[in-house]
Amino acid sequence: MNNALETLDHRKHSDKMGKENSREAEIVIQGGTLLTMVEGDSPIHDALLTIRGNRIMDIRSGRHPDPSDAEIIDARDGIILPGLVNAHGHTAMTLFRGFADDLPLKEWLFTKIFPAESAFLNPDSVYWGALLGCLEMIASGTTTISDGYFYQDATAKAFQKAGIRALVAQGVIDFPAPGVPDPAENLDVGRRFIERWLHGPDRIRPGLFCHSLTTCSERTLQGAMQISRDFHVPLQIHLSETKAEVDEVFSRTGTRPVFYLDALALLSENLIAVHGVHLQDEEIERMGLRRTGVVHCPESNMKLASGVARTSRMVEAGIPLGIGTDGAASNNNLDLFREMDTAAKLGKVYTLNPTNMGAGTVLKMATLWGARILGLEQEIGTLEVGKKADVIVVDLRSPHLTPLYHPLSSLVYSASGGDVKDVIVDGKILMKDRKMTQLDGEEIMARVKEISAKIKL
Ligand SMILES: [Zn+2]
Repeated sequence: MNNALETLDHRKHSDKMGKENSREAEIVIQGGTLLTMVEGDSPIHDALLTIRGNRIMDIRSGRHPDPSDAEIIDARDGIILPGLVNAHGHTAMTLFRGFADDLPLKEWLFTKIFPAESAFLNPDSVYWGALLGCLEMIASGTTTISDGYFYQDATAKAFQKAGIRALVAQGVIDFPAPGVPDPAENLDVGRRFIERWLHGPDRIRPGLFCHSLTTCSERTLQGAMQISRDFHVPLQIHLSETKAEVDEVFSRTGTRPVFYLDALALLSENLIAVHGVHLQDEEIERMGLRRTGVVHCPESNMKLASGVARTSRMVEAGIPLGIGTDGAASNNNLDLFREMDTAAKLGKVYTLNPTNMGAGTVLKMATLWGARILGLEQEIGTLEVGKKADVIVVDLRSPHLTPLYHPLSSLVYSASGGDVKDVIVDGKILMKDRKMTQLDGEEIMARVKEISAKIKL
């Protein structure tokens, strides 16, 4: 954490900023235990975190000397931590939550999800589905979502309204897709989407999302990577999610998926690989070497019986590792607290080693490491002076969070999203004392119920 000198220098800086922009609103979070999630930092008790504009201006112990002009967030009996980063999702798939469960991935995808998406997705349904996802994510402490789907202008507009931070990636697939009836246009649609949003609101960053190696050709994959490089935006892909997918790639290319990607020059820091369930040691080593990030989606992998990603092996190999919920149709919730609990326990049971995937590791996956994968490490992922103010407060006043010995353990093994009390993104309060400030939950749920009443196959 800050030493005394840094704090002093910072105060001078913040005084100066205060005079220059004295009308800028200040938010003060005080009381409770603060976890910066900076490597080596100890928890700060009786914490005081000051936000001005969209940035964190001060972090220390104590009380604010003059809180009269500030909006106060009371964090007594709470834990203050960085907002969570959901590094992979398809937010508008909340429309299909519970629509098709207990099926194998291929059947689920080709007989249920793809036909339903083709029949029922349009800009309006995607907008309301994405808003419902935002409502659920904000209520459970997620402040950043990395999304890949179709009709992404509608998704980006929903994220803009909700106030959440997002990487919004246009889906690319070599089949007729929602909003992209001619697959020959898929890359042009992606390029135009990036051009529209590249210089838009800072919170919303555009990108591309190739569906998988079995649904995108070599030409499509290379074209998508070229566009990503041209605009300096990440490219996401589902990778080695099932054994069947690996077998199909191997029989077509004569090599395993990671080496195929490397041969196409796609394996790089610019690529975000989602799932990575079926990776051999040599593939994990290669991904570590190329610094390609992996997003672990344990609940989706469990529900579709895809297998168990070898997360501790990936961490050892130096792979940047994040955590994601995947879409609500394969989870079926967007609560990252539940996902962290699952990731920690699955990592232990799979290796028969209870020291694997400790609470501290999975909480890093959901904060700093997730931010790193999305290229946002300099801005978010930890609570540090100067960083963007994406902060949440977890309320400890519940039987299942009493007593408190180790904050990290309580967050990962005992808390759930419903324990999040306050959520701030980019210096704006999105939820205070469990009340949404930007979104009308009743309206959003009513609209999604109307839309879902028509979804039948
Ligand atoms: Zn996915």
